Amino acid sequence: MIPFEEARAYVLNRCPAPVAGVVDLRGALGLVLSEPVCALEAVPPFDNTAMDGFAVRAADTTGAPVALSIVGTLAAGSVPDTEVGAGEAMRIMTGAPIPPGADAVVMVERTSVTDDDTVVTVEVEVPVGNHVRGTGEDLRPGQKVFVAGTVLGPAHIGVLASIGCRSVAVYRRLRVGVLSTGDELVTGTPGPGQIRDSNRDALLALLEDSGVTGVDLGLVADDEHEIEQAIVAGAVDCDAVLTSGGVSMGDFDYVKAVLDRIGDMRWMQVAIRPAKPLVFGLVEDTPVFGLPGNPVSSMVSFELFARPALLSMFGHVMVERPRVMAVSDGGLGRRPDGKVHFARVAVAYTDGRYRVRSAGGQGSHQLSAMASADGLAVIPDGDGVIDGGEVEVLLLR
Ligand code: AMP
Ligand code: MG
Repeated sequence: MIPFEEARAYVLNRCPAPVAGVVDLRGALGLVLSEPVCALEAVPPFDNTAMDGFAVRAADTTGAPVALSIVGTLAAGSVPDTEVGAGEAMRIMTGAPIPPGADAVVMVERTSVTDDDTVVTVEVEVPVGNHVRGTGEDLRPGQKVFVAGTVLGPAHIGVLASIGCRSVAVYRRLRVGVLSTGDELVTGTPGPGQIRDSNRDALLALLEDSGVTGVDLGLVADDEHEIEQAIVAGAVDCDAVLTSGGVSMGDFDYVKAVLDRIGDMRWMQVAIRPAKPLVFGLVEDTPVFGLPGNPVSSMVSFELFARPALLSMFGHVMVERPRVMAVSDGGLGRRPDGKVHFARVAVAYTDGRYRVRSAGGQGSHQLSAMASADGLAVIPDGDGVIDGGEVEVLLLR
């Protein structure tokens, strides 16, 4: 067996560098900037009002209440064609440009208007700049807005739209194929001795959750020829391929045999539980992950190896799940076996502490506990964690 860190480093080191391209802003959510972005325009582009009210000269409000004559109305989107002189006010709506002559806005709630709409009484004194949103207060022209490596979230998309950046230089979104293998698996109703293929859906969902485009490569029997065809087709079409099943010590575990023949692979027995067997390498220069077949194992293996590798392949700098220390409620028992155990746990945050509790059956076939888990508790080799003991946890969400 090899240590977890060694296996992970091997996988990460062999994965290719991210490929940059230009995409439409509308398709850029979750992608990583390959170049910094500079603002070419000021945001806001002109001084405008943050409130509905009256644009005034601040000096005129000294000794308020004061009466000012109304010289017009400015809606958002219109351009002022008159000046606000001394003793005057212009009605103004949020977002409208500050008219020449004015230097402050009084909110409508602090004013009253005569019946004939010619005079406004301003009830408060306001300073210069009151409720004025200055040109470039958000972004100045020439300012560096985002550095390369920024992961684009909804607010980043909004900022880019605000400066007219309709296409962005990013690392290309990955396409990753998913293949299930096993004579016992079916997509329809299982007959005697058969079970439903669940790994393909779970792995495609994990990819989607990571911002990767999943490609369904189907389900093949434990047949060397079928396995080889499916993997080669996936390797040609995709940036990476995930297979599940057929990498253990069974008589019909042909995935490992096929990959050894067609790829430059390494078969690893990693000192972890679940997900001990892992085949990883390159087929046609495409990374291929031979994940174990047990449903929990394939998901944990994805979490520990495939996810960080795929994230680095599409430009992410932070590829790790956050790790926190937590108190174990009820303890997490285990026996010494030379492996690090990753236990599925429910995580809560109460009274300023993370607390974890077993999410249910820890067998590698018990996928329901994986669904209840918010984290993987990292239990070093030994006798486990006692009730109230401390344990490190990898947060999955
Ligand atoms: P294997 O690694 O092929 O020996 O499979 C280990 C266990 O995982 C067996 O009990 C398989 O039936 C099960 N298994 C393998 N592939 C899948 C799959 N795609 N969906 C559900 N169970 C699977
Ligand atoms: Mg199998």
